Amino acid sequence: MVYLDWAAAAPRDRDIWDEARAVDNEAFANPSSPHRLGRRAADRIEEAHARTAATVGVRSDEIVFTSGATESNNMVISSLLIRETRGNVVASAIEHASVFEPCKLLERCGFPLRLVKCGRDGRIDPDSVVRKVDSETLLLTIMHVNNETGSIQPLADIVSAVRACRRSGRRIHIHADLVQSTGRIHNPLPKVDLDSASISGHKLGAPRGCGVLVLRRTIEAIYRGGGHESGRRPGTHNLFAVWATMRALEKTVPAGVSSGARAAHDALLRELAHVPGCVVIPDTAHRSPYICSLSLPPIPGEVIVRLLDEEGYTISTGAACATNRRRDNRVLRAMGYDERLAGSAVRVSWGPDITVDTVVGFARAVARVFSAVKHRTFR
Ligand code: PMP
Repeated sequence: MVYLDWAAAAPRDRDIWDEARAVDNEAFANPSSPHRLGRRAADRIEEAHARTAATVGVRSDEIVFTSGATESNNMVISSLLIRETRGNVVASAIEHASVFEPCKLLERCGFPLRLVKCGRDGRIDPDSVVRKVDSETLLLTIMHVNNETGSIQPLADIVSAVRACRRSGRRIHIHADLVQSTGRIHNPLPKVDLDSASISGHKLGAPRGCGVLVLRRTIEAIYRGGGHESGRRPGTHNLFAVWATMRALEKTVPAGVSSGARAAHDALLRELAHVPGCVVIPDTAHRSPYICSLSLPPIPGEVIVRLLDEEGYTISTGAACATNRRRDNRVLRAMGYDERLAGSAVRVSWGPDITVDTVVGFARAVARVFSAVKHRTFR
């Protein structure tokens, strides 16, 4: 099987897992325990803060280890409930469910949600963000790379436009979901004036269930417990996952975009252009070289995934976080694609070691599958 669903979860990085297991074996005690073994584990957690901070270009006390990006996003968004009594939230209409759903929850609690649409290129225009902001805006949340289409947002331009916006009159909390950009494309953290950002370890080869919340501004998390992570995220640390996440970031962030991924991405687009009826979404040059969304109407996305699985390729219909439930194509519809194109869309995603041969083989499998079933009737 050729695994092309890295945006859902990257395969484990064996070296990193082995190292993390050794560290965890040697420092197995509870890092909050006052005895020597506890201190040993706590020292490792502290080291992980310092090294993660150095890797992503922030201060050590700005790193909070969480159970993943879903928790990181929820922590920031739901913190408004105890901090504020009124005001609105601005978010892009193409956010991941772990941002979109807590924003909807806030809306139910009386904080209106203002969604910023984007065009078929999947890009958010900084001016359209600024137009949604007013003196009541508390939070802006925006993703860097879209997990379904790979479109890259002009994050730095959006943030500087909002910071310069006189209408707001306060410092709006700006949060960014960096899950699909960290360790893949450039790292915005040192240069972009963000208040918080979320990162996920398992997209980079670390185990699932660990992420980083970069927190440059004090927030009060809604749930309580022990004083872990300087009181910001209660819960006993998972040293194994924390260490692996730190190492995965050390391995991928300085490496930047892999030239192999870029070559494979360009080759895939060239090959798909020869598949009649295949539409690549979105139509933009600002795309992650690790994600490609394509549509083969009228074949339903679920059927394409199954047929390609039989051909030996593991891909997905879109966000793994949405496919457990009924597919709603919220993101593609927000980009202006109709049901026909959106319902036939599938996502292909890969890692830094992808080869041109692999994606050429994949594109040929797409062509085979399409010509075999395109005349069938689908409901
Ligand atoms: N945001 C984006 C853009 C994602 O792709 C994902 C992973 N599906 C998440 C957030 C959630 O990350 P995690 O699995 O670490 O909770």
